[in-house]
Amino acid sequence: MGSESDMSSRVMLPPQVEVVPFGLVSSTAAQVVAANLQALLELNVLVVQPWPEPAHALVAARGQYDAGLILKDLAATEGAPLRLGLMGKDLCLPFLTYVLGESQLGGRAAVMSLHRLSDGEGGGRTTRHLMLERAAKVGLHEIAHVLGLEHCRAAGCLMKFSAGPAGLDRLRMGFCPVCQRELTRLKIELA
Ligand SMILES: [Zn+2]
Ligand SMILES: [Zn+2]
Repeated sequence: MGSESDMSSRVMLPPQVEVVPFGLVSSTAAQVVAANLQALLELNVLVVQPWPEPAHALVAARGQYDAGLILKDLAATEGAPLRLGLMGKDLCLPFLTYVLGESQLGGRAAVMSLHRLSDGEGGGRTTRHLMLERAAKVGLHEIAHVLGLEHCRAAGCLMKFSAGPAGLDRLRMGFCPVCQRELTRLKIELA
């Protein structure tokens, strides 16, 4: 485990993250997610040209996309930066009804969807502003997983598991002190 006195070893280039929009997903959302990754994780983040929607990951019977298959595509390029895929369509896993995001813990890639982030109370829609705030939170949560950070139980911490979009609204736009320290250590290891 890294010690607190290791601050001088932080002389390093931060790892780069690519935000990969799929299809016609909102470019504003991609920019907002990227800006928050850059600001809160202090990573060098780039929004790349959109990739085509991953047709092979469509689970036709469910009308959703298999997050696991998309992760494989995103992680496939040898030597590429860490990647965060951004989908407009709904994501699922074989054993889960839906996921807001999914990532490889300590791996190369994460993917998230905007599909449910506009859902409001009682079937209504939220404001665009709240949707973008939720998107930033999911992006930060998933990329922190990629860096190796696990779930946290601290109230309001971004690493707290959220089953749905309303849960995201109870999180701060930030990490608790324990997660923040762990993130710093993980980023040093990555360098
Ligand atoms: Zn998580
Ligand atoms: Zn935490």
